[in-house]
This record gives sequence, C-alpha cells and structure tokens, in this order.
Amino acid sequence: MKTARRMEAIKPSATIAMNVKAKELKAEGKDVLSFAVGEPDFPTPDNVVEAAKRAMDAGETKYTAASGSNELKAAICEATQRDLGLSYEPANVLVSNGAKHSLMNVAEVIFDEGDEVVMFSPYWVTYPVQAEFVGAKPVVIETSGEDDFQPDLEQVRAAVTDRTVAILLNSPCNPTGAVYAPETIEGIAQIAVENDLTIVSDEIYKHIIYDDAQHVSPAQVSDEARAQTLIVDGVAKTYAMTGWRIGWIVGDAAFIKRAGALQGQATSNPNSIAQAATIEALGGPQESVAEMTAQFELRRNFVMERLAEIPGVTCATPRGAFYAFPNVAEHYGRELAGRKIGGSLDMAEYLLDKALISLVPGEAFGAEDYIRISFATSMEELDEGLKRLKAALA
Ligand SMILES: *Cc1c(COP(=O)(O)O)cnc(C)c1O
Repeated sequence: MKTARRMEAIKPSATIAMNVKAKELKAEGKDVLSFAVGEPDFPTPDNVVEAAKRAMDAGETKYTAASGSNELKAAICEATQRDLGLSYEPANVLVSNGAKHSLMNVAEVIFDEGDEVVMFSPYWVTYPVQAEFVGAKPVVIETSGEDDFQPDLEQVRAAVTDRTVAILLNSPCNPTGAVYAPETIEGIAQIAVENDLTIVSDEIYKHIIYDDAQHVSPAQVSDEARAQTLIVDGVAKTYAMTGWRIGWIVGDAAFIKRAGALQGQATSNPNSIAQAATIEALGGPQESVAEMTAQFELRRNFVMERLAEIPGVTCATPRGAFYAFPNVAEHYGRELAGRKIGGSLDMAEYLLDKALISLVPGEAFGAEDYIRISFATSMEELDEGLKRLKAALA
C-alpha cells in the first residue's frame, strides 16, 4: 500500500524494541526488572477516580466543546494562577488527548516546511520526530552531564537563524532530571523575544521537583516572553494519570483558536469523563502530589548513592522528574560476555540479556554516552536492579 513521504520521519523507536525483548524474556519465565517505564508506579488518587465515576453516573458521557469543557478550562486557569502566578482566560486554553497530543498540535499549527526548531539534547524522543513529521528541522543543542545538563546561552544565540521559529524547552527534563536555572530560563526567554520566536515550554514534570530546585516558566519572565510562550502540561505525571489522556496548552488566544479548529477536525474533544476527573485532580486535595514526590525523592537519593559506587559511571543529580541519566561511556569499547559494547544500544541489550534489567539506551534521546534509569519503581526493585547493574559492569 502507498505510504506518504512524511512517514519517513516516523521511525520505530529503540525503546519499543527493548520493551518487546523484555516482554519475551519475561514470557520465558525470566525475572526481568524494568527501569524503562515513563510513568508513575502509584495509582491514580481515589478522589480523582471517584470524580470519574460520578461523572459517568451524572451522564457526562457526551461530546463536550472540541477544545475541552469550559469548567475544565477554568480549572486549568485557576491551577496556572496558583502554580505560576499568571492569570489566563479559558480562551487561552486548549485541552487535548494528553500533552503529547498538545505538542503535536503545536507542531502542526506553527511549523512550516523548512522551519527550524531549536531544542536541547538529551531530548524527549518525541520532539524531533514531531518536528520532522511536519517538515520542520530540529536544531539540536547538546547539553552534558558535566554541566548538570544546563544549556549554554551563547550556543542558543548562535543556533538562531532567520529560519528559526521556535525554541522547545523541557524543564524538569525527561530524560535527565535537569531543572534549568532561573537565569537560563530568563536568558532563553530574552533570546526568543529578541528574535520573535515561540517558546514551547513542556512543563509536565513541574510539580515533581527535589531539593531547593525551583521551577521557572518562561511565561513568568516578562509580559513579552509570556505573550510568546505556549505552556504545555497535563495530568499524566503529576497525578499518576497516564492512561486518562488529558493534556493542555495555555497561551496566546489566536494560536489557541487555530489549534482548536485543527483539533475539531482531527479528534474533537478529549474524553469527557477524563475531563471531569481532571477538574477534581486540579481543584481537589493536592496531598497526593507531595506524597508521591517525597517517595520519588527517597528513591532518587538511593539511586544516586548506588550509582556512585559503580566504577566508570557518573551521574548528574536529577533535580526533578523520575529518571537518572548516568554516563556509562567509560565502559564502551569493553568486551562483556563475549560481545563488544560499542554504544548505548549494545549496553542496554547486554544489561537486558545478562543482568535481566531493562532500561532505555541514551541513543533514543540523542545522547549516546548515557542510559536512562526510571525510578518510578519500588525500592526493592531498585535495590536488586542496581546490584545487578554493578555486577554486570564489574
Ligand atoms: C510523559 C511526557 C509527556 C506527555 O505526556 P502525556 O501522557 O501525553 O500527557 C510530555 N512530555 C514529556 C517530556 C513526557 O515525559
């Protein structure tokens, strides 16, 4: 069957291949431990589940406005006011089927063929793919664990050309856990304003933050920066609601109107029951968020202690999200269990085959020297998994 040329941008992901292999080994009865998952291991809070049940019983089972119900948009405005101190109207909000869908809406509405989009590596796998799918060109600025994965502003400035239309930010970052310093966010916002660029700020991990790290949104930097910022967020990570599929964009009303028109033709409204549950998640008690974050922080500390004991492995301390992103490149070139470890994919395959631990090769995030370990798993599993990692690299 004929396939459109734009499908060339959609490559089967290394992550999925690893997952398939891990499942095969599990099916063979092997005790595989997975540190590859990108979702909280906690259940969705009870009050949210109850709100969904009530919505079904009350007959909230029909179409809502294609861009999301007014009640939910109002709840998102209130949450944005509470979290960032910024006031928006429902006309500034588009609710979509998860934050990934929100980001795809941004790509489709903003990027033309040949437009350049500045982004930082290690990047979330989806960013370059979405840009390429609509014909835009990802311009990738590398960050390194040695600098805590903080972007260099001079490099950002140098990357901007007359084709650049947007800068894509993700702080706290998946896969590195980096939280960009306030000065960095301010600097990037300033560059965007000077060059009339849209700032796409993926803030899906903004509530999962450790130590004294502080989340700053580019929309908070100045009125000018705010006018050019599209904040992307959702319930998936903050409220352990990955399966409910609700995300949103907050920003310029004219953009929101266009993106809403696109969504009206593509998917119509996101699930009405999940929308009702999201109103409760955002407006109800927030204790579960703090509890979950406290658990993640304990695990983060544990993972960092254990990684520090493994020779040839260095890891920048994650200040947010729930991933550690250690550099394992010192082990590249070694021959382990009869195979030469050439890079992150070989390393991940070796660790899966020999240590029965599955994690994501850095290659998937444009960062060959690293592997990603999710700590959205129990302490017991982390304990056993890190023992296995240490033994496998000895
Ligand atoms: C999980 C994740 C998202 C998207 O989440 P949805 O499940 O689509 O709401 C977006 N950005 C990053 C960096 C993520 O890790």
